[in-house]
Amino acid sequence: MSNDAVVVGGAGGFIGGHLVSSLLEEGRAVRAVDYKPLSAWCQLHPGADNRSLDLRTAEACRKSVDGAAEVYNLAADMGGMGFIESNKALCMLSVLINTHLLMAAHESGVERYFFASSACVYASDKQVSPAVTALKEADAYPAMPEDGYGWEKLFGERMCRHFREDFGLQTRTARYHNVYGEYGTYDGGREKAPAAICRKVIEAKLSGRHEIEVWGDGEQTRSFMYITDCVRGTKAILASDILDPINLGSAQLVTINQLIDIVEAVAGIKVRRNYKLDAPLGVRGRNSDNTLIRSHLGWEPSVTLEQGIEKTYRWIYDQMTRVDGANS
Ligand code: NAD
Repeated sequence: MSNDAVVVGGAGGFIGGHLVSSLLEEGRAVRAVDYKPLSAWCQLHPGADNRSLDLRTAEACRKSVDGAAEVYNLAADMGGMGFIESNKALCMLSVLINTHLLMAAHESGVERYFFASSACVYASDKQVSPAVTALKEADAYPAMPEDGYGWEKLFGERMCRHFREDFGLQTRTARYHNVYGEYGTYDGGREKAPAAICRKVIEAKLSGRHEIEVWGDGEQTRSFMYITDCVRGTKAILASDILDPINLGSAQLVTINQLIDIVEAVAGIKVRRNYKLDAPLGVRGRNSDNTLIRSHLGWEPSVTLEQGIEKTYRWIYDQMTRVDGANS
């Protein structure tokens, strides 16, 4: 590995696969690490040094970061609300990944370390209304994050801060707000709202039964960031002098019903919405306040939901209608 090489932990996942692609395009030497077998990676880039290693162990972390200049830690056991609300212990166990990767990065003299945190760190009492005030970074405290997953991310943020303050490791942390796009999970239980709704509308279109199940009453609000904005922001934050955790998310707030309207427009059908009020919902409303990222980078995520959903819908449609049996 050259001494400006980059490690991407969680490279077999949705965001990791796109990040590896973008780093390779820049001509970087990339070591891509994930514990899934290579055949299960969302994207496998032949130009990277692809490794199947379990980053919960100290040994795997040492092997992964040896000789690298930069580390992106995107590895975590996670999924949409349906997954994180019923797998809190599994989510907490990702603490092993960040702990051992930080220790290995410090020991081997890594220059910069990125941690993928989440909007799930924000205190739940600030997210009780659909008409939300967008969340500023300071709203994470006093702490009362999403149980399980959110606590693990908040602890991870603090580990990064103290490794920087005490050991001089240049850590950077972004709080991602709902990322979506091509190659994201769209079925199986870990999928998030944009992909799940695209899948349900496609199923309705293909079957001719124009109805879908919607979790909640559809009036809960969120913002959704398209993957290209996420990758651009991730790289910019790692290269920046932004020391404290910073929001990386879209500020285009929509209700889930509005998200469905957008998917319907792309699909060219209208669906009857059957609201499942006892489904896992998460907070009532959440948006990203982008004041800080604009002031630091002069930029914020800007791909509209209409643009991003169009691409995502087409990709999921192609996967679901492939005739090679890969998705049957
Ligand atoms: P993902 O599940 O697609 O990718 C995570 C990857 O980490 C998976 O491929 C998984 O196999 C891998 N992984 C898990 N445990 C591992 C281990 N022990 N060793 C090696 N690899 C391991 O998720 P994603 O959407 O690409 O998210 C990437 C990061 O961004 C995660 O840390 C996630 O918590 C964070 N994040 C994502 C979102 C989002 O909307 N996608 C929002 C907030 C935060």
